[in-house]
Amino acid sequence: SVRVRYAPSPTGHLHIGGARTALFNYLFAKNMGGTLILRIEDTDLERNVDRAADGFAQQLRWLGIEWDEGAYVGGEYGPYVCTERLPIYAKHIELLREKGLAYECFCTEDELSLDRERAIANGETPKYVGRCRHLTAEQRQAYLEEGRQPTVRFRVNDEDTIDFIDMIRGNMTFDAGATGGDFVIVKSNGIPTYNFACTVDDYLMKITHVIRGEEHISNTPRQLLLYRAFGWEAPTFAHVSLILGADGKKLSKRDESIVQFIEQYRDLGYLPEAMFNFLALLGWTPQGEQEILTKEDMIESFGFDRVHKSGAFFDAAKLAWMNGHYLRERSEQELLPLVKHTFMKYDKESKERESDSFLLLLTALYKDKINYIGQLPELALPFLEDFPVLDEDARILLSDVSVRMVLEAFADAMASATTWDAEVAKATLKTVQTVTGCKGKDLYMPVRAAVLGQLHGPDLNKSLALLGQERILLRLKHVMS
Ligand code: GLU
Repeated sequence: SVRVRYAPSPTGHLHIGGARTALFNYLFAKNMGGTLILRIEDTDLERNVDRAADGFAQQLRWLGIEWDEGAYVGGEYGPYVCTERLPIYAKHIELLREKGLAYECFCTEDELSLDRERAIANGETPKYVGRCRHLTAEQRQAYLEEGRQPTVRFRVNDEDTIDFIDMIRGNMTFDAGATGGDFVIVKSNGIPTYNFACTVDDYLMKITHVIRGEEHISNTPRQLLLYRAFGWEAPTFAHVSLILGADGKKLSKRDESIVQFIEQYRDLGYLPEAMFNFLALLGWTPQGEQEILTKEDMIESFGFDRVHKSGAFFDAAKLAWMNGHYLRERSEQELLPLVKHTFMKYDKESKERESDSFLLLLTALYKDKINYIGQLPELALPFLEDFPVLDEDARILLSDVSVRMVLEAFADAMASATTWDAEVAKATLKTVQTVTGCKGKDLYMPVRAAVLGQLHGPDLNKSLALLGQERILLRLKHVMS
């Protein structure tokens, strides 16, 4: 049965590209009734970041990507963290040595970079020159005595060709001679390289399909050479295309004009189901016109026949639109935890300031007008300040003494209300209408101008409910003084 894996390196935060790779693995596994495995590839010790793997797990779960086996959940083929598998790798390095396919290399960084420069100067593609390919026991001993820390290289036969069928790209052929020569499989610190660990792990974990980013395509020939050397059957590969920015170039992680990390979207108050839906369509086009799809729909229709070879444009506006759609499907009550989380991120003190009832009313007022919850804190500000900032139109309107009558009647009618909500606000305005004979614009505009500082805005009754009796009276008094 199908077994796939998502294998992040814990070097930072879950990026939209990584999340999309995880998601394609998930959709494929579920579609095929297979197993998704989470493996933590932490062989690059210098780049590892403390607790980064925890973050990956958290963000994946938030997105709704659950794995069946692997880090954090366990399973038959563990451990699932590479640095806990060092004895396994050592054993397999030994197997290659016995076959004469692995050897120690004592070249220094300086020597290697000189080789590279020389190749480039000659117009050649850099490749390991093979200096340590045939060292004698004495030479090795001498290097060791010098204190050199060897790496281990895999012996590549330049005449070999490597071909495989990529589920997205079709037939792929590489000349072994163009892969850079004998490559390092164990670094001088004794830790295996990604290519080696990944191959051994994928084989031992019985991975049937390797689905990963296009940036790994140049690793695949090397990994295939390793499969061949061990005499193992290789899995099927799918290299998912890059995500492109609006300029058509590969999204740079440093580009700050686009929010790129899942956690940031979460903090901005995006909904996981919207992110899931959006990321799934980043490079995959299901049959039909429909873009809003449930997880079940996506699982059912996912397949690599409709995953594109070309890069996928990241359309932030589409994501916002999609999120708005999912937002309106949830009730205010359902959104409340997210709203609270977002307010906390926005302003650490907000927890003290805004009650649940305030947040619920605010959400109800703006739910149809925003695309993500992160837009709410700004919109809440006018309701939280002591006095509204009057805009030009409001100031002009309020300078007309005839509106005073309306405001005074409103203040009077309000003072006698024993409860306060949108319904009571509506009834109160009705009373003002009866008392003053003013209606329509003549009634609403002065009230709006006085308590909200603007002539236009969201629903007046709900806005009044949100402001609360006390604050409205204060604001009225302020403009009338
Ligand atoms: N650890 C690799 C990365 O984070 C994944 C490579 C793979 O899937 O083979 O890019």
